[in-house]
Amino acid sequence: MPEGHTIHRAALEHNKIFGGHSVGVTSPQGRFTDGAARLDGQTCSVVEAIGKHLIYHFENGSVLHIHLGLFGRIRKHKLPLRTARGAVRVRLVCATHAVDINGPTICEILDDHGLSSLKQRIGPDVLRRDAEPIRAFRKIKKSRRSIGCLIMDQSVMAGIGNIYRTEILWRESVHPLTLGRDLDDATLERLWLDARKLLEIGVRRNAIVTVDSAKLSGGRYRENTNIFGKEVCPSCEGVVSQLEISGRRVYLCDKCQPLVDSD
Ligand SMILES: [Zn+2]
Repeated sequence: MPEGHTIHRAALEHNKIFGGHSVGVTSPQGRFTDGAARLDGQTCSVVEAIGKHLIYHFENGSVLHIHLGLFGRIRKHKLPLRTARGAVRVRLVCATHAVDINGPTICEILDDHGLSSLKQRIGPDVLRRDAEPIRAFRKIKKSRRSIGCLIMDQSVMAGIGNIYRTEILWRESVHPLTLGRDLDDATLERLWLDARKLLEIGVRRNAIVTVDSAKLSGGRYRENTNIFGKEVCPSCEGVVSQLEISGRRVYLCDKCQPLVDSD
């Protein structure tokens, strides 16, 4: 599943190529033919990301809503147009580039009501300047669920996926099983700011880089994590343990991230 930085990066790129231009829209696979016909030839005003959702606004008021889910993928290429690879649900083409989206969980046209209800369902997005983290903090502080679950729940706060979850909690010395209601404002603030910092690096580098000393290797950044997928904690050299929370594996160091008992 792509984490929030991937979707924000796509939104920036797609905004650059489609924003202000007329866009040809088709559904080579055929499963979005009617929707594509409604958008075809319209001018795209802006492309934005809200959490892991990609939103294309068109000047006629239509909104194309994409969520990649676990298996969706986006391919962009410069014209001339290439043959569609695999089952392309929707193809967007302007004068210079084409974008193909395969296998999204959601590919639909939203009206104003649909868009505002989507925005209400999604928690504040760590990568958006207009985000109100207090909305997330309120939910977390009332919750008996673990922070490992809450931080990845897109209706609580948006953008963080499985790898960032592990890394942020380790960097901020928070045990993933700590209950939401046991976290104070200062800790929540630290988690929020670290998430924003790391995801912003992810957008710039197009890779998950959570190690402060990470250097360019071979001209590009590679994924570079502290304890995700590792066996030894880089801070205390203790053994990294694993848990499953929300169906995904989280790595932690029990020594650097002590579990504070709740009463
Ligand atoms: Zn450690």
